[in-house]
Amino acid sequence: MHRTIIVAVGNELLIGETLDTNTNWLCRHLTALGFKIEATLTLPDKIDVISKTIKSIINDNWIVFSPELLIITGGLGPTEDDLTLTSIAQALDTALEIDKTAYDWVKEKYQNLAKESLVSSSEMNPARDKMARLPKGATPIKNTVGVAPAIKITYKNTTIISLPGVPQEMKGFMLGEVQTILSEQFSVGAHIEKELWALCGDESILAPILSKVSEKHPEVYIKSKAKGFGQNLRFQIKLHITGTNIVIDEKLKAAIEDLEKNLNEHNIKLDKS
Ligand code: ATP
Ligand code: MG
Repeated sequence: MHRTIIVAVGNELLIGETLDTNTNWLCRHLTALGFKIEATLTLPDKIDVISKTIKSIINDNWIVFSPELLIITGGLGPTEDDLTLTSIAQALDTALEIDKTAYDWVKEKYQNLAKESLVSSSEMNPARDKMARLPKGATPIKNTVGVAPAIKITYKNTTIISLPGVPQEMKGFMLGEVQTILSEQFSVGAHIEKELWALCGDESILAPILSKVSEKHPEVYIKSKAKGFGQNLRFQIKLHITGTNIVIDEKLKAAIEDLEKNLNEHNIKLDKS
């Protein structure tokens, strides 16, 4: 299972002006591909904060391990407050330099936008150059929705992928070129979840049973939620498992059987429909 950390960059997220939908979408999308999201972080548009955080994540200093995959969204645009590439370069102790491929992509985009009269000039300028100035060693990834290229750069065991903050652009990458990169580089697996109902009105009886089953099946994440009131109270039990296709079906089945057996011993019926 590939340990993953997601970092969302943007002052607008921290002041509550923009809801961080990117992180939530990435969590669901990557979990479904079998990645294990270990943590998510939201950071301001500040070079020092972004670079020091990245540095500690990739050097094992932050939460004991360095992730295999670090996804960053936001801060790739042409404006002064878009600082992600500079911060990555600083974290990796490397320089920024114009990448010829990225430069040609950005130039071509502006020529097309100018043809459609969406921008007044097709010429490159310092703000447009900025989107093609990448940390040394980075591979540019073409933006099929907007302008700023994404990048992939590797540091020790960590693959860093930096994506634009605009949700449509971020999704365009994840469902396109980045999906290909991830499946080539990682044994992309699967995630299954199963919803069951325990016909029981007392969580104090249910909780120790779930703990016992969870302990016996550590790879299965079991979560219960109360639904209804009074006589109609029942518990939704959701089991989640992530891994390779071949084994997770069997592991989930074993956990459900065990859960059913333990509930039966307490005269609690399990509704699997
Ligand atoms: P741009 O080229 O637009 O500058 P960018 O990569 O620099 O792209 P940002 O400037 O950080 O991205 O954000 C662009 C837009 O996307 C903003 O309107 C912002 O509110 C939105 N956005 C950024 N991050 C997120 C996020 N995590 N969730 C949802 N929306 C976001
Ligand atoms: Mg921006």
